[in-house]
Amino acid sequence: MREVIASVLENVRLTRDVYSLTFACDEKIKARPGQFAMIGVSGFPLRRPLAICKSEGERFTVCYRLKGEGTRRLAFDYKIGEKLSVLLPLGNGFFVGEEEKKVAVVGGGAGVFPLISAIREYAQSKEIYAYMGFASADAVCMEYEMRRAKSLSVATDDGSMGFHGTAVQALLSEIGEVKPDVILSCGPLPMLRALKEAVAGKNIPTYVSLEERMGCGIGACLVCVCDKTDGKHARVCKDGPVFEISEISL
Ligand SMILES: Cc1cc2nc3c(=O)[nH]c(=O)nc-3n(C[C@H](O)[C@H](O)[C@H](O)COP(=O)(O)OP(=O)(O)OC[C@H]3O[C@@H](n4cnc5c(N)ncnc54)[C@H](O)[C@@H]3O)c2cc1C
Repeated sequence: MREVIASVLENVRLTRDVYSLTFACDEKIKARPGQFAMIGVSGFPLRRPLAICKSEGERFTVCYRLKGEGTRRLAFDYKIGEKLSVLLPLGNGFFVGEEEKKVAVVGGGAGVFPLISAIREYAQSKEIYAYMGFASADAVCMEYEMRRAKSLSVATDDGSMGFHGTAVQALLSEIGEVKPDVILSCGPLPMLRALKEAVAGKNIPTYVSLEERMGCGIGACLVCVCDKTDGKHARVCKDGPVFEISEISL
């Protein structure tokens, strides 16, 4: 992990409330899929955690959904050339073993962003089956990146595009046929709970990235501690954000 001073190359709106922000810095950025950056937004003592969607040479991209003051400030105040302090890469990230050839990625809402980097990383060496859920057609973004997968199923809650239902339901509709060796997922808590129930007893290693509120991002403040099923606790920022689904209480 290190601190870089990153300057904004592009900060563009993708949908009504989602933006893509690309930075340039002085050194090469190497991040694993699922690792994240803590972005220092001026005026806020706490940095904001955002998944690293893409890292190419000295450039990296995060995508963010407008939520509170910090993401609003990012969207409206940061123009090309503005500089920010960023800590990266943080967290463990997703890891897919050599022997795992068929990878299902299951994302919901802002949870699709860390999975974009997994699709980019493994599209050449694995068969990726992507199930990406959004509220409606107008919330769908980064489709060109998701299309790198061998198969893409876009799911919408209102049925306005693709599969009518959630990303987990889309996965379940094909899981018997696809028979994934491993599942990678990120999304809102109800989606992760549904996934946990859906894969129970199926003997498929399933890794989820948690998007807890975070303070420091480096394991010091314990704000993001989550409960584990063995009664112990884990820091999402340092021990995660990726955990095997049976390890954590959702
Ligand atoms: C590992 C990880 C990856 C993520 N990746 C993405 C992504 O790629 N795209 C995306 O859209 N979202 C992502 N998120 C969620 C994103 O971090 C939040 O939506 C964002 O921080 C909201 O910031 P805000 O200032 O707009 O909202 P607010 O709700 O105003 O502020 C939330 C932030 O304030 C701080 N904070 C506020 N209150 C407390 C408190 N009581 N204790 C501790 N800290 C507090 C924290 O830094 C918190 O993250 C990710 C979260 C995590 C943990």
